[in-house]
Amino acid sequence: MAVPRDATSFDVPFDIASVRTDFPILGEQVNGSPLVYLDSAATSQKPRAVLDAEASFLSRSNAAVHRGAHTLAADATDAFEDARVAVAAFVGADPDNLVWTSGATAGINLIAYSIGNASLGRGGEAAQRFALDPGDEIVVTESEHHANLIPWQELAARTGAVLRHIPVLDDGRLDLEAAAGIVGPRTRIIAFPHVSNVLGIVNPVDELVSLARSVGALTVLDACQSAPHLALDLPGLGVDLAVFSGHKVFAPYGVGALYGRSEVLEALPPFLTGGSMITTVTLEAAEYLPPPQRFEAGTQPVSQAIGLAAAVRYLGALGHDAIAVREASLERRLVAGLREVAGVRILGDAAGVDRVALASFDVDGVHAHDVGQFLDARGVAVRVGHHCAQPLHRRFGLTATVRASAAFYNTEDEIDTFLDALSGVRPFFGASA
Ligand code: PLP
Repeated sequence: MAVPRDATSFDVPFDIASVRTDFPILGEQVNGSPLVYLDSAATSQKPRAVLDAEASFLSRSNAAVHRGAHTLAADATDAFEDARVAVAAFVGADPDNLVWTSGATAGINLIAYSIGNASLGRGGEAAQRFALDPGDEIVVTESEHHANLIPWQELAARTGAVLRHIPVLDDGRLDLEAAAGIVGPRTRIIAFPHVSNVLGIVNPVDELVSLARSVGALTVLDACQSAPHLALDLPGLGVDLAVFSGHKVFAPYGVGALYGRSEVLEALPPFLTGGSMITTVTLEAAEYLPPPQRFEAGTQPVSQAIGLAAAVRYLGALGHDAIAVREASLERRLVAGLREVAGVRILGDAAGVDRVALASFDVDGVHAHDVGQFLDARGVAVRVGHHCAQPLHRRFGLTATVRASAAFYNTEDEIDTFLDALSGVRPFFGASA
């Protein structure tokens, strides 16, 4: 993170009371207690600016984009393309390098199927650099969300490629020494999360990108859990492709983005085909538009994209530094507090690493679902289960954990309310020593 870990909230102004009023849902009561929402990694809450932007577009400017010749359609197209400019800038990219998707899962599948199509000979000569042959290797990490694992399993099954993984150390960091031995001349793709949705640790993108470059492999970054928290400069990170979901960055559901370096997007064949991605079509064949439209077949999530643009503008107005300072304070309180609760084991409790305000943990003697219910009865919303990361849970000998994940709109008092409630879990279930 650009902001030092020991920065205090006094260094950068942030009016938390006013920010909280921007999020209507944060004033709700749940089970008779004020809502303490610590499930932002699953989906974030949406500020009024986002709700209003979507409603205003739908009630005043709604029309089919890139198609109609009438004024409303032109206005809608302008709003949609302005949204692309704003969201691209949010990740440090040019608008031509940003493809709309319905979310991160769709983005990763788009990449995997495009590479699969290249492997079938589609996309002409330029696409052949992506074609996989039997025995080629795709490398992921042991910490993947299933969304950045199963599409690669399927691609490997379709092409005869081999899927390998970089292991996770006991403290949650990626085993980079092992990675250096795993990545080799047959490695064609390295796909990895910027921030693990279970561990909250920020992975060393630079080192993984260098490793990939040393063997000419393509890098795919799952930025789902970093986009809500870190100031992203995807071109600066040097990754070839990256994805994130709108609903995790305070924006509506059903929209996300795929970033790609120009030379990669220009050479990849499309995945979905149909309307809005072509230049000429005959009954026998079609010619495709350049990116990003080449990857945007069919009607796009227009109002949601406008909502996503409103979300990134809202974040920009708050200021990335102010958000980072706020979240660093929440992260310290959360992690230090969890370490103090008897019988709680944090997964990936590595010292001195950059992390976001997210931690998954096991409560000795109490099932994660019981912990979740106990907290829910007190108004505290956390996630329980495997968080779509079964291999990582298996790595730590568990099937389920509890995950608390904060965002800039949470307060230290809310973290304390959660920690107090958590301290009551083991006594309540008779699990105390
Ligand atoms: N990758 C990570 C790290 C995630 O946390 C998630 C969602 O939890 C996804 C991918 C999938 O995102 P979506 O379900 O929005 O497509």
